[in-house]
Amino acid sequence: MAKTAAERKAAQRERLAESGARKFELLMDAQELQMLEKNCVLRRPGREPYDMVEYLTLLIRKDNAELVRKLKSMSTECCGKCGDSLPVKECVCDGDSQCWLTKGWHETKLIM
Ligand SMILES: [Zn+2]
Repeated sequence: MAKTAAERKAAQRERLAESGARKFELLMDAQELQMLEKNCVLRRPGREPYDMVEYLTLLIRKDNAELVRKLKSMSTECCGKCGDSLPVKECVCDGDSQCWLTKGWHETKLIM
C-alpha cells in the first residue's frame, strides 16, 4: 500500500535525523531577509532562483572551503615570537606586538 503524505514526511524526517541534520532557527532582520531574497534571484539570472535554504547552505560550504584554504596556506608560516605554526591558538606571548596571536585573528575573521 502506498504511503500517505504524513508517512512520507515522517520517513523524510527520520532520514534527515539519521544523517545528522537538524533544524536551526535563524532570525534575520527585514534588510537581511530582503538581501537574501533578492540575491537568490540575482545569482541565477534567467534560471530558477536559489531556494533560501539552498542559498544559505551553499554560502556555508563556500565559506568553509575558503577558510580551509586560508588555514592551509597560513600553516606554512610561523609566529615571529614563539615560532609555532599558524594559526597560533594559545601563546604566553599573547599581547606582545611580535606574537601572531595578538592580531592574527584579523586574518581569519569574516571581513565585509
Ligand atoms: Zn607567539
